[in-house]
Formats: sequence, C-alpha cells, structure tokens
Amino acid sequence: MSLTKSDILARDVLNRMKPYSPGKPIWEVQRELGLDRVVKLASNENPLGPSPKAAEAIRKLLADLHRYPDAQAVDLRAAIAGRYGLASEQIIVTNGGDELITLVSEAFIDAGDEIIIPSPSFSEYEFGGRLMGAAIRNVALTENGQYNVAAILEAVNERTKIVYLCSPNNPTGTILRKSALSELLHALPRNVLVVYDSAYSHFVTEGDYSDGMEFVKAGYPVIVLQTFSKIYGLAGIRVGFGVASPSIIRAVLQVKEPFNVNALAQAAAAAAIEDENHVLKSRRLVEEERLRLYRGFEELGLSYTPSMSNFILVHLGEEAEQRYVELMRRGIIVRSGIAWGLPQHVRISVGTPEENRLLLQALRSILDG
Ligand SMILES: *Cc1c(COP(=O)(O)O)cnc(C)c1O
Repeated sequence: MSLTKSDILARDVLNRMKPYSPGKPIWEVQRELGLDRVVKLASNENPLGPSPKAAEAIRKLLADLHRYPDAQAVDLRAAIAGRYGLASEQIIVTNGGDELITLVSEAFIDAGDEIIIPSPSFSEYEFGGRLMGAAIRNVALTENGQYNVAAILEAVNERTKIVYLCSPNNPTGTILRKSALSELLHALPRNVLVVYDSAYSHFVTEGDYSDGMEFVKAGYPVIVLQTFSKIYGLAGIRVGFGVASPSIIRAVLQVKEPFNVNALAQAAAAAAIEDENHVLKSRRLVEEERLRLYRGFEELGLSYTPSMSNFILVHLGEEAEQRYVELMRRGIIVRSGIAWGLPQHVRISVGTPEENRLLLQALRSILDG
C-alpha cells in the first residue's frame, strides 16, 4: 500500500491562503552573498536591541527552565495593567501579536462571516479570516495612504463580524486619527468587533492619535493589539497582548493554549514595559532618524509616505524590484512592496544613524549607476 499526496486532503481553504513572507534573515543573506556585514531594515525591529532590563530578567530565570510557565501570566498582566491603568481581566498575553489575531479569529469568526480589512495592510488579518472561512472585504486606503471612514462604513453589512484597523498602518506608516476612530466607533453597529492594531503606537508624534486604550475603557467593542516586538526590542522571544472588555477577553482565553507564552518571554516583557529609559531612547532615535531619512530620500529625488512609525514606504519607481535586489547585493535588506501589491515601493525600517547612512549611500550609488 502506498500513501500518496492525494490520499490525505488538507482543508480546501488552505489552497487559498498565502503564506506569510517574512523579511530575509541576516544569516541567509550573509551566506548567499558571502557578505561580512549585513544591515537589516526589513522587519521594523528595534535597532538598539532589547531592553537591558529584559535581558537581565531572562538571565535570572535560566535556572528555572524545568518549570512550566505561568499559564495566566499573572505578573506580566499586572505589569501591563499598571502601565495602562487597566484591570488584569481586560488583558490577554499572547505568543506575539500575531497569535492574538489567530485567537480572535478562532474565537469570533464562523464560516460565512465577513471581515473588513484596510488595504494595503498587515497580512495576518486576512490569514486569520481565511483560516476560519470568512469572506474578506478589503477597503482601500486613499492614494496617499489615508483611511476612508465612509468606505469602511459602506462595507459593513449584517454579516460583518470584525473590522480591522491598523494605526500606524503597516506598510504605509499613516494613522487613523483619533477623531476619525471616534466617529467610526460611534457609527459601527455594536455587534461588530473592532480589532485596533496599535503595534507601533509608541512612535506616533501626531497629537490627534489614540493607542486605543481609552476606547476600550469607554466600553466600545474594541480589542487593542500591542506587541513587545517593536519598541521593546523583543521580537525574537514572541510576546504580544490584547486589551478589551473582560467578556471579550474571556472568549479569546477559551481558545488559547495554556502555555502559549514561555517563561522567559513573560519575565522579559514584564521588565521591558518598566524600562522607560529604553523606550524613550528608542522613540527619540526613530524620531530623529526618520527626519534624516526623509532628507536623504528628498536629496535622491525619491518620494515617500510621511510616517508616524519606525518604517517608511518609499517609491522606487518602475525599477523598484531591481533596486531592491541591488540593495540586497550590497548587504542591505529592505522589504519589497510586491506582497502588498505595491511593486514600485519598498518599506524601509528606521535603523541606527550608521545603518541609515549606509542605506542612503547604497541607494545613491544604485541610482547613479
Ligand atoms: C509586528 C506587527 C505585529 C505584531 O508582531 P508580533 O511580532 O507577532 O508581536 C502586529 N501588527 C502589526 C501591524 C505589526 O507590524
């Protein structure tokens, strides 16, 4: 008897799901191209590294690795609750913000439900929706990357279950203003869950902005997504969290694996959220370097979307893909816009002053060449 591929059929929906395409890791580019130094500006990581307090918390825990982690993440939830003035019952801790998207999808979407997703935006929203058999309704951002509140409201019908909002939006770096968010929440039916992804909230300098917490506190059907992968510099250890009313959180907890967040991750995140100095330094770096990159792009005659985040969407024109490959050859990894349907763009993460200088230098020589 032989077992062939066709005997075991995976769910049909898997044929319609695009796999997530991560930024190329440094080691892979080093190995493929034989380069010593590689600058990665592709995954919006913190170029300053992890909070030193988080690293210390991990070291302290190494002798206890034979113990299971706390399934309730009591200490970390208390630290988050304290930081934002929330109750612990309003918080769920997850294996990266990505896991929260999957869990929310599992907890709330029935096959045939509809979800509304801005476009272009973070691909995991669609992944979770498709996995659960939802119909996806994309609502395009405007030409310059702004949210169109009227178009979102028009897309809502009686089958709508979730509206995703990403602010600052990945990959455009643009925000949904607080006034527009407020207007949208007023207008949406109360049986529609809003997933408000504010993974990059710490980098926003615009005043008319909300990280979403106040709308949870005000009782709106909103779940806020946050992560320790970006400003806190802990992408490698996988922690994120969600904030919502206790009843929404209880539903999501029902589909969570008991030990979804490992012990080192819990300890590191609890230390990182208290490390105000590291957060401040990281934010200041991004604010200053964003401006340096803008100036650099302008000098090169490149247009870009002004960003409230730690990455910038840059227009490289018809030859964008070639230029992306050229940058890679010179040891600089950025993210191609192709996956977002933006073949003339790349998304560039804000690096250290040195990294940004190397990027601009490489771009200059490519454009001159
Ligand atoms: C990075 C990111 C997340 C969360 O990433 P994790 O590493 O899984 O915590 C969520 N949303 C957006 C838009 C992101 O860019």
